[in-house]
Amino acid sequence: MGIRGYNLETKKRIYVGLLAVSLLSIMFLVGAIWYLIANRHIIVSQVLLITIAVVVAIILLILGIGIIAIILMIIRSRSIPSLENIMQLANELLFPLTIWAGKVMGIEKEQILKSFVSVNNYLVKSKEIFVPGKEVMILLPHCLQNSECPHKITVDINNCKECGKCKICDLKKMAEKYNVTIKVATGGTLARKYIEENHPRAVIAIACERDLSSGIQDATGMPVLGVLNCRPNGPCFNTDVNLEQVETALKTFCKGG
Ligand code: SF4
Repeated sequence: MGIRGYNLETKKRIYVGLLAVSLLSIMFLVGAIWYLIANRHIIVSQVLLITIAVVVAIILLILGIGIIAIILMIIRSRSIPSLENIMQLANELLFPLTIWAGKVMGIEKEQILKSFVSVNNYLVKSKEIFVPGKEVMILLPHCLQNSECPHKITVDINNCKECGKCKICDLKKMAEKYNVTIKVATGGTLARKYIEENHPRAVIAIACERDLSSGIQDATGMPVLGVLNCRPNGPCFNTDVNLEQVETALKTFCKGG
């Protein structure tokens, strides 16, 4: 099956393009420094010069291989297991630079983060990780709950009385159907606490692009599929989510439901 199913799908190009721009920027900077040194504008001993050149060349080579592997993986719709660590390293090291490159090129940060989540989802899905439902955790943002609801679902989602005024009841039922753990977090600290307590092997996180990208970066090594929430009432207030996208993400980890 092709790697499809998220509304973030079409956004991958922005992030991959910015990864490449970031790498080219580093290469340009290194080239400029090399030129200054080679022309004796900056005096550096021969041994030190060779050492620096070798280290920089290795780092650039690794980052370059990582980016090429990501592009190849997207084209082939299949992971390259032997290059997964290099892909992850290139992704993590170049992430801050992509934000900078995007800013210079006039691309909105929100678009870049959305694209980052899309690439992450692609990388995760291509690994074909299948785990029992009880080892999967769904993390929900508190703003999905109807603002007038008096029930404390952050303590326990089972406190939801299923009145139907927000999607919490549907997500609770979906979690029961797939036998997965589901938690409502008020922020990154609580989300981290839930992960430390429950030790899931895979996470499905629902949030805005900003929280999703920082959560994905935090969870080094943990496969996280991000589902973007909808904000018809503005940020962090009575937000919504496409249930179909959540179920697609669930089916990615829990094969066959
Ligand atoms: S569905 Fe549950 S969480 Fe949402 S408003 Fe009703 S009782 Fe509250």
